[in-house]
Amino acid sequence: MKIPFFNYPELYLSEREEFLSVLDKTLSNGSFIMQDELFKFETELAKYLNVKHAIGVADGTMALLISLVAAKIGNDDEVLVPSHTFVASAAAIKHSGAKPVLVDCGIDHLIDSSKLEVKITSKTRAIMPVQLNGRVAQMDSIVNIAKKYNLLIIEDSCQALGAKFDDKFAGTFGLTGTFSFFPAKTLGCFGDGGAIITDDDKIASKVKMLRDHGRDEKDGKVKLFGYNSRLDNIQAAILLRRLKNYTSYVKRRRSLALIYQERLMGLDTLLLPPGPNEDPRHFDIFQNYEIEADDREALRLHLEKEGIGTILQWGGFMLHQFKELNLNSGLNHSEEISKKFMLLPMHHLLKKDEVNFICDKILSFYR
Ligand SMILES: *Cc1c(COP(=O)(O)O)cnc(C)c1O
Repeated sequence: MKIPFFNYPELYLSEREEFLSVLDKTLSNGSFIMQDELFKFETELAKYLNVKHAIGVADGTMALLISLVAAKIGNDDEVLVPSHTFVASAAAIKHSGAKPVLVDCGIDHLIDSSKLEVKITSKTRAIMPVQLNGRVAQMDSIVNIAKKYNLLIIEDSCQALGAKFDDKFAGTFGLTGTFSFFPAKTLGCFGDGGAIITDDDKIASKVKMLRDHGRDEKDGKVKLFGYNSRLDNIQAAILLRRLKNYTSYVKRRRSLALIYQERLMGLDTLLLPPGPNEDPRHFDIFQNYEIEADDREALRLHLEKEGIGTILQWGGFMLHQFKELNLNSGLNHSEEISKKFMLLPMHHLLKKDEVNFICDKILSFYR
């Protein structure tokens, strides 16, 4: 058996006929930029997440940057962000003109709300929680801290479309939420794509201008300096098609996570992520299945020999470990996690047999 970490060709081949007909229809209409398919996708995404506005943008990184700019964050403001995230979170903060201030993460690998307050200064303007691996952080505490210090929340929910905390969707806890449709994301397209969600009408209209050269869609006049950061219409057409099946993708991921959980929980050499039914406050969508493993390198080698692909998020480094970026360090728990974290295969095309095979090989390694 060969189990690649992610099966890129299958993303297309699994529903080839449907995708071909979507592409043919969209391309034959000449609907390339800002056409019906985009607006339909935005409407459906907003409906799914029960928000007023969903706005397609070029990718998840631009969703973050445009959110920050729309919120007028920049100019030496400070934004709190966990160290265990994609560099895009911090890069967006940096490019807005603000300064990323790193915060440690907790046992569930998400931003540790108990470590936030000590990082707040007179310059802090916002918190950017990262809803990593398809799980929402402890948002009740984070929202309370934001209120207490009058801070905005811009969520990096790029890995958590459809995840919930206390029955509230990732991306809906602050001013904006952001999504990425990179192919390996739970809702992936065939290239780059992203979206911003918000319930704030003013922010929504500003975001729409910022993604399209600062032009106001009502009169076509330029009202501010914007970007070219639109979601391609073809990608929107694909996403509209894939969104129809999205809840089944999530269901499948959760059922695979349950197999990992049940088969591996007896091993004290592994720390597993919280199981899908472990805490009723959380509904996790398992963008990733991130474990901590003793003897990680030997385990990865063993699995590789058995044809099983694993990866380390961010190439194995957290943001404070990229020396050239000169970010703050001293994040003890993140440092510990980075020595042991790794991702096991997890996607909606993975079969139960394959997950059981992976579990067999992990168990044989440790026994
Ligand atoms: C994927 C991702 C992004 C955005 O990525 P893009 O490739 O720009 O769409 C941002 N933050 C996190 C945590 C991500 O996983």
